[in-house]
Amino acid sequence: MASRTAPSRRPTTRRRGAESRVQEHLSTLLAKVEAKNPGEPEFHQTVREIAESLWPVLVQNPKYIDNKIIERLVEPDRVISFGVNWVDDHGEIHVNRGLRVQMSSSIGPYKGGLRFHPSVNPSLCKFLALEQTLKNSLTTLPMRGAKGGTDFDPKGRSESEIRRFCQSFMTELFPYIGEFTDVPAGDIGVGEREIGYLFGQYKRIAKRFAGAITGKGINWGDSRIRQEATGYGAVYFAREMLATRGNDLVGKTCLVSGSGNVAQYTVEKLLHLGARAVTLSDSDGFVHDPDGIDRDKLEWVKRLKNDRRGRIREYADQFPRATYQAASDRDENPLWKVPADCAFPSATQNEVNAKDAANLVENGVSLVVEGANMPTVPEGVDRFIAAGVLYGPSKAANAGGVAVSGLEMAQDMQLSQWTSEEVDARLQVIMTRIHDTARQTAEDFGHPGNYLVGANIAGFVKVADAMLDESPI
Ligand code: NDP
Repeated sequence: MASRTAPSRRPTTRRRGAESRVQEHLSTLLAKVEAKNPGEPEFHQTVREIAESLWPVLVQNPKYIDNKIIERLVEPDRVISFGVNWVDDHGEIHVNRGLRVQMSSSIGPYKGGLRFHPSVNPSLCKFLALEQTLKNSLTTLPMRGAKGGTDFDPKGRSESEIRRFCQSFMTELFPYIGEFTDVPAGDIGVGEREIGYLFGQYKRIAKRFAGAITGKGINWGDSRIRQEATGYGAVYFAREMLATRGNDLVGKTCLVSGSGNVAQYTVEKLLHLGARAVTLSDSDGFVHDPDGIDRDKLEWVKRLKNDRRGRIREYADQFPRATYQAASDRDENPLWKVPADCAFPSATQNEVNAKDAANLVENGVSLVVEGANMPTVPEGVDRFIAAGVLYGPSKAANAGGVAVSGLEMAQDMQLSQWTSEEVDARLQVIMTRIHDTARQTAEDFGHPGNYLVGANIAGFVKVADAMLDESPI
């Protein structure tokens, strides 16, 4: 296995021995993961990316190899699969598959979102649960990784169909979650409406109010700033990165993809900090507004997406200076060719391919911060890092959402609700801490400025040491 973080300087004999042991360990591990999880490309991709980053820490700490920590970490504690049967408005019965992957058993209750999208399968859930494990660790809050969802597609479904589906889904998921065991939240296709139906059914079965889900409505247990947290957090992370180069967001032109929860609040915080977003997208295509998406336009987008469940192409009808381009099968996404200073991919995994990354670099983008989970393919990440672009990897940059979920759990336990200002202040502290930890760790392990290596190592070491403390074998 050729590691992206293997040292280049000439090693001593002892170090050479340690390096070849790491090399052998990681090659065997990756071969095992691929054999044990066939046909799961996203999961293989994330295991490979994490394993390659851990090279320097493994050379220095053979205990992680001796105790097979990575092998234990990438084997889920549990993969729960269940059928979800429901009836549509015409009386037809449908059968979907629900999944919950509970990944690591070291720090606190399991915590991670639920995704409702036709692409949901074991590979996606395992990849997201593993990413979540390191992300949760980076927040320093006591939460371990999980992820779940279903191949049910909410698009085009009526309100009552969504409600019946959520109730059936929760009836099956119920035995596996709880405020001290596993606390799901939203993700793609699961917003406040779906959380409402899921939580309502949870309460109906449990016969008690417990903080077993986060992202709840503000009148029934939500934390203030939870809806905003992932997008706001990503922009706070970007602000910290730019500050390391004596720069800031004022006057910057930014590309944002997606138009859901993360994208909307990324645009909002960019506006607060003096930048302007000029793009938004959905799976049908993207809009480019050269004048920038101001507060009024953003409010219109929120109504379009959250209330009317409309498509982003309508933006160009509403605001004639904007243009709409439909998605195509081309090997590059034209959204990433729009001239800009910064990019915030906030839709889905692998939405920035190697060509897109090259286009961004060529256009002079100096900062890429990932709101979505793993939106850039590994070759694209390499390109950003080689070009000296400030690259904020998702597990660090989008950790604001789960961090405020952790704060919501704390408020649920205390039966209290903190003010927006208080939660936002805590979010900023957490994002600054994650930024500083990732940056410092990268530097300590010989990869200054490489936030991916820093985030992976810092997230890993905390989980690994907890695993060793709780049980070496
Ligand atoms: P939403 O469902 O609110 O929005 C998702 C957006 O991405 C929609 O605009 C959707 O378009 C678009 N999208 C989804 N799949 C594709 C695709 N295959 N190609 C192009 N566009 C697509 O989800 P969120 O905003 O909550 O999540 C976005 C990303 O952020 C995900 O990667 C998620 O895992 C990550 N994330 C979310 C957190 C949160 O707190 N919500 C926390 C941390 C990470 P369409 O309507 O056409 O499907």
